Amino acid sequence: MLLREVEYARPASVQDAVRLLAEHDGARALAGGQTLINVMKARAASPDMLIDLNGLEDLKGIDLGPDGTVSIGAMATYTELMESAEARARPILGEVCAQIADVQVRNRGTIGGNVCSNDPTNHLPPLMVALGATMHIVGGDGERAVPAEEFFLGVYMTAAGPGELLTKITVPPGKSDGFASVAIGRDGTCIVNAAASVNGGARIAIGCVDAVPVLLYTDSPEDDAVRSAVRGASLDPPSDVHASADYRRHLAEVVAARAVVQAKAKR
Ligand SMILES: Cc1cc2nc3c(=O)[nH]c(=O)nc-3n(C[C@H](O)[C@H](O)[C@H](O)COP(=O)(O)OP(=O)(O)OC[C@H]3O[C@@H](n4cnc5c(N)ncnc54)[C@H](O)[C@@H]3O)c2cc1C
Repeated sequence: MLLREVEYARPASVQDAVRLLAEHDGARALAGGQTLINVMKARAASPDMLIDLNGLEDLKGIDLGPDGTVSIGAMATYTELMESAEARARPILGEVCAQIADVQVRNRGTIGGNVCSNDPTNHLPPLMVALGATMHIVGGDGERAVPAEEFFLGVYMTAAGPGELLTKITVPPGKSDGFASVAIGRDGTCIVNAAASVNGGARIAIGCVDAVPVLLYTDSPEDDAVRSAVRGASLDPPSDVHASADYRRHLAEVVAARAVVQAKAKR
């Protein structure tokens, strides 16, 4: 289906992009377009103006700080994260990006677009929460940093509000991480996913079971403790053609345990 007519702007700076977003109620940021253009074609969204972020060098690049913090520009693509030597400091980043969809989506899709769309089935929201990432947002009132567990507010809603942009994500050092999912076919949409980071206990984020990733902690990374923490979370996942709520609840336990096993193997 063809797009309806839409205004288009290619700002030269982050400040210009933020100004355009604030000035036009119906404006939306355009990153890789792998979600936004599809929902526009389906008429599920119809912004009046697209603010193309693709020319903004300040939103690109992946850096490694002296303390091991990985700093990822919002416009870094999944392929860039898979190929970046700097991102390899936290190997799970590239490993999970390699599981997203297909080559075309990985070449165009960006980390910023993935977390800002906050589709509950996406791979990166639970990963960012489990890793304890920090989201950096700029708007008319300046810049602020938001912990990943406070960034995701609801289906398609995040702390980056109207007139604001996510500029970068910082991921603290670490390597004992895991990610497991049950998907609709190979490289398909997740039915349930979980990311885990082990540092003594386990920090686990489960996706696809609620509007936002569900964050759990366990003092012990042993299987019994992990499964009991998931059961204790009283998850209330959706039921649909792919899985009943009960089956999703069961899968949540399974993928959380698998993610923690992977994370422990990397200690
Ligand atoms: C066939 C197919 C299969 C897919 N399968 C998966 C999958 O299995 N797992 C998965 O995780 N994803 C999947 N996706 C989604 C894909 O990863 C998208 O790339 C991603 O969700 C959005 O990233 P984008 O860069 O394309 O953003 P866009 O589509 O350009 O933007 C998405 C939204 O985020 C906003 N936005 C973008 N950047 C910013 C920013 N810096 N600041 C504020 N707002 C911003 C936009 O305004 C828009 O509302 C799939 C997509 C396709 C087409």
